[in-house]
Amino acid sequence: MAECLFCRIVRGELPAQIVHETDAVIAFRDLHPQAPTHVLVIPRRHIATLNDLTADDAPLMGEIALAAQEVARLEGIAERGYRTIMNCNLAGGQTVYHIHLHVLGGRQMTWPPG
Ligand code: AMP
Ligand code: ZN
Repeated sequence: MAECLFCRIVRGELPAQIVHETDAVIAFRDLHPQAPTHVLVIPRRHIATLNDLTADDAPLMGEIALAAQEVARLEGIAERGYRTIMNCNLAGGQTVYHIHLHVLGGRQMTWPPG
């Protein structure tokens, strides 16, 4: 996926503030943070949307969840609490078509999210 923004970050072609990484995933700060902590966890492998996951990707999604947990711990927000979000397609508010789990914290979240 030559043109994909997040694939370019994975390849090191675009700068990113990486806070955590494993063989399968990387976590970096969102360019336009919506909370004191706003980190995106992505798989290194390109998957466009949540709809494109297959059963084979279940372990990878587990790794993404574990990376979110680790990011929360590193950021010091694990105990107080935080929010994870994965937007899907237009009505879900997705703007970058390489799946990413938002990890937001450091302030009180409200519901509904809007
Ligand atoms: P979504 O709207 O769920 O697809 O989220 C995409 C997120 O990517 C937004 O919160 C953007 O601020 C963020 N974003 C876009 N470009 C970059 C970038 N180059 N580095 C870090 N975050 C980015
Ligand atoms: Zn990609």
